Amino acid sequence: MPIDIDKARAETPGCEKVLHFNNAGAALMPARVIDAVKGHTDLEAMIGGYEAAERVGESSNEVTALYDSIAQLINCNRHEVAVVENATVAWCQAFYGLSATFEPGDRILTAEAEYSSNYIAYLQTAKKTGCVVEVVPSDETGQLSVAALENMIDDRVKLISVTHVPTNGGLVNPAAEIGRVARNAGIPYLLDACQSVGQMPMDVDAIGCDILTVTGRKYLRGPRGTGFLYIGGEVMNRFEPPFLDNHAARWTTPDTYELRPDARRFENWEFNIAALVGLDEAIRYALEWGLDAIHERVNHLADTLRGQLAATPGVTVRDLGAETCGIVTFTVDGRTSPEIRHGLAEHAINVTDSTIFSTRLDMQRRDLESVVRASVHYYNTENEIERFMDALSAVIKGK
Ligand SMILES: *Cc1c(COP(=O)(O)O)cnc(C)c1O
Repeated sequence: MPIDIDKARAETPGCEKVLHFNNAGAALMPARVIDAVKGHTDLEAMIGGYEAAERVGESSNEVTALYDSIAQLINCNRHEVAVVENATVAWCQAFYGLSATFEPGDRILTAEAEYSSNYIAYLQTAKKTGCVVEVVPSDETGQLSVAALENMIDDRVKLISVTHVPTNGGLVNPAAEIGRVARNAGIPYLLDACQSVGQMPMDVDAIGCDILTVTGRKYLRGPRGTGFLYIGGEVMNRFEPPFLDNHAARWTTPDTYELRPDARRFENWEFNIAALVGLDEAIRYALEWGLDAIHERVNHLADTLRGQLAATPGVTVRDLGAETCGIVTFTVDGRTSPEIRHGLAEHAINVTDSTIFSTRLDMQRRDLESVVRASVHYYNTENEIERFMDALSAVIKGK
């Protein structure tokens, strides 16, 4: 079923205020999500924070339904999910735990479009353990070359860790083909899915990843300060989380502790329960629209925008990849990306600029300092694309 755009917009209060093409930064929350967050905050104020949490969970620090919603969203078991405050924490909990087992000469394979925070963690780990970080080259379309990856596999490769959709462009890396290589070789596979979950169907089983990290505020349309980790049991049991608290482990005797049996060993005790109630609502809302319908609509809008930008003199579309998504990036001759962003902001249009500091390898290779990033979601419209193009022309002409 196609998306009912009028309904989607009526259920998104921000649509009336702003033309929002910054969904890869933080999408506009649906009314249902906003109400859930406010409602829970009110409940905390009226009956107490622990007591309010017991209404949405089995104990004073959980939102029980959220684990089922996430499990449905990415096709996993609820025991394979840890909920944390952002995707970086999810990623670091898994990466630093696993990489603590690395020895000098062990290899991490990653992609050219890798996200800065992840790459900084590789560099720090290389410094600490003597492991080496190697970048799998991209193919002629700009996606990670699966053939090159296959050629790089040997028994020193201890991790394949890539970004599915980079922060700086419309590229979609071939996650499932990478998963096939990883599975055949028996190598742990960590997928940063921050920009893909919420804009396309995701199935960890079909992809074949062992670890998946996700944020709530981007294409999922959840509240800020939310994220989660998927980790499969086999890989989970190979290492301990880098830090533990009395939620991740139980202090069983004066000298011993026992880890939680499930993925929640990667969590810590205190949660922003109101935000998690909101995230649960956001995921249910996405599932009600259907991720296939969302995917189709997002791609349609992004392709439309890309086509119009490409036909505009002085504008260069910068997206790579055989498969693309809702993130549209471009540069304008003679103008910096912040200039374009500020100019559009004066027309009540939200975009952002993505700089070399987020994705250095890819940007350096393409000789780019920054790009303008216009990221669309299903509630955006063709009419908004028209208004965007008019405003961009005005900004380029200096009006
Ligand atoms: C936004 C982003 C992150 C970080 O997510 P947080 O929730 O801010 O920690 C990681 N990887 C990619 C590709 C991103 O776009």
